[in-house]
Amino acid sequence: MLMSNGNVETTNDKDSEHFDVLIVGAGISGVAAGVYLNKYCPSENFLILEAEESFGGTWWTHRSPGIRSDSDLHTFGYSFKPWVGPPIATANEILSYMGEVIKENRLEKNIRYKHRILRANWCNAEKQWFIEAECLENKELKHFRVNFLWMCQGYYRHNEGYTPNWDGISDFKGRIAHPENWPDDLDYKDKKVVVIGSGATAATVVPAMANSAKHVTMLQRTPTFFRTGRNAIEIAETLRELNIDEAWIHEITRRKIMHDQTTFTARCRSEPEKVRDELIGNIRDLLGPDYDVEKHFTPPYRPWRQRIAFVPDADLFKSIADGKASVVTSQIDKFVSKGIQLESGEILEADVIVTATGFNMNVMGDIDFAIDSAPLNFHDTVTYRGMMFTGVPNLAWVFGYFRGSWTIRSEIIAGFVCRLLNHMKKNGAKSVEPALRKTESDMALFDWMDDEDFNPNYLKRALPLLPRRGDSFEWRHTQDHWREQTEFPLINLDDEVFIYRGIDNSVMAAE
Ligand SMILES: Cc1cc2nc3c(=O)[nH]c(=O)nc-3n(C[C@H](O)[C@H](O)[C@H](O)COP(=O)(O)OP(=O)(O)OC[C@H]3O[C@@H](n4cnc5c(N)ncnc54)[C@H](O)[C@@H]3O)c2cc1C
Repeated sequence: MLMSNGNVETTNDKDSEHFDVLIVGAGISGVAAGVYLNKYCPSENFLILEAEESFGGTWWTHRSPGIRSDSDLHTFGYSFKPWVGPPIATANEILSYMGEVIKENRLEKNIRYKHRILRANWCNAEKQWFIEAECLENKELKHFRVNFLWMCQGYYRHNEGYTPNWDGISDFKGRIAHPENWPDDLDYKDKKVVVIGSGATAATVVPAMANSAKHVTMLQRTPTFFRTGRNAIEIAETLRELNIDEAWIHEITRRKIMHDQTTFTARCRSEPEKVRDELIGNIRDLLGPDYDVEKHFTPPYRPWRQRIAFVPDADLFKSIADGKASVVTSQIDKFVSKGIQLESGEILEADVIVTATGFNMNVMGDIDFAIDSAPLNFHDTVTYRGMMFTGVPNLAWVFGYFRGSWTIRSEIIAGFVCRLLNHMKKNGAKSVEPALRKTESDMALFDWMDDEDFNPNYLKRALPLLPRRGDSFEWRHTQDHWREQTEFPLINLDDEVFIYRGIDNSVMAAE
């Protein structure tokens, strides 16, 4: 097999280690995958490779002021470990919860940090993935052979955020920081700060910085929808007062939240104008009748076409009402030495500019994929339920929900993968890949996400790299957790959609 350096790797390469399953990434999804493998597939030996120095993924790499979850931790936390704190949690609280999960499930021995996977090549003859990873400590290349690849790489590049290429950036005399690469030594006390962007990250950074900065301006091109509320969940509080067991409180609260989210999402489609008026009415109540809510907090799209950010205790709006923060809605013309020049010619003066401008999507961990050494472009494949791909054997991909918590889907997929691995073991299958049924060979294919449904810019930028979807729910990432949590455990593993092969490459007949 041809490796990146042009050498031929053989199966008896003494330097390569073998694992049944390789999990990419030790974020919330990779840790879930490890817990499920331990519990449901105890005989599979597995390794988690993580590029960073520690676990946590998003919660390890993001260190900007005020960094916190946007989802409640009853649903962002795992189903199997009750969350007992306030629902919106800081990155540190999430990391310490994940640390307990790793310890309680004895996962430390399965995780290898500072290893970035560079290449993955599926070998049909040997029914294995040949993996090349760089050990970031000594820059050595490490080789692994694995039967199954479980992609828990998240959805964006952790080492650099997305920053548009504005004119004049180098003319700016102050400091520029992206929330994904927050400089430890950034001092903003009594400084003028401009935060570019108005998504969930900006909504967190602005009130956190406004506490000590001279003034913070949130500069946005387009307004975002926000929801506000107490950082508490009534049903959890009531159940706690009744001395109900924490495991029950966790489960009941999860169900209630998921139910309410589904109802809200359905209303965004069935009565978007009414929901829009409610959301904007709430902001008007918080900012008073004289504030120009129409200009700064009325998005041009229907609710939920982009993520709706939750602002606990309305802290962003309190900072604005107190005059510590303000909002400017305008286009940037260019950066100048003193700050940012807007289209109107007005200059927003700044000592510090925070570019909360989003992600660079990282579709498959920036790994070069190949099948029998031929480069694999995932856009040539069709997704099976947003987790496997036609023509790609022994690979599962975790991509969570945009509207609900990511973790819910990580666990639904984890349950499915464990069932699939056990099924293959029982039947002696060495590989599995989904394929369109004969009756589906003419199925219309589309980009991965329907633009009408959900269309943030980072996703639109990545569509040419993402797998395609078909015109039935089985061939798309539905974003519908009620449907998935009911259907995934019932997926018939002997359906003709799954092509199993033995070591001799022959297709195995369904049971
Ligand atoms: C600031 C912020 C707040 C968020 N808040 C929420 C929220 O409240 N609710 C919600 O549902 N979602 C939220 N999200 C989305 C969030 O990223 C996911 O919910 C979740 O944390 C993703 O977990 P993950 O394990 O799938 O991926 P990640 O957290 O992205 O972790 C992936 C890990 O894989 C590693 N990795 C990637 N490629 C490779 C490779 N080639 N080799 C080795 N390792 C690799 C990375 O280093 C990383 O540690 C938020 C995102 C951000 C940025």
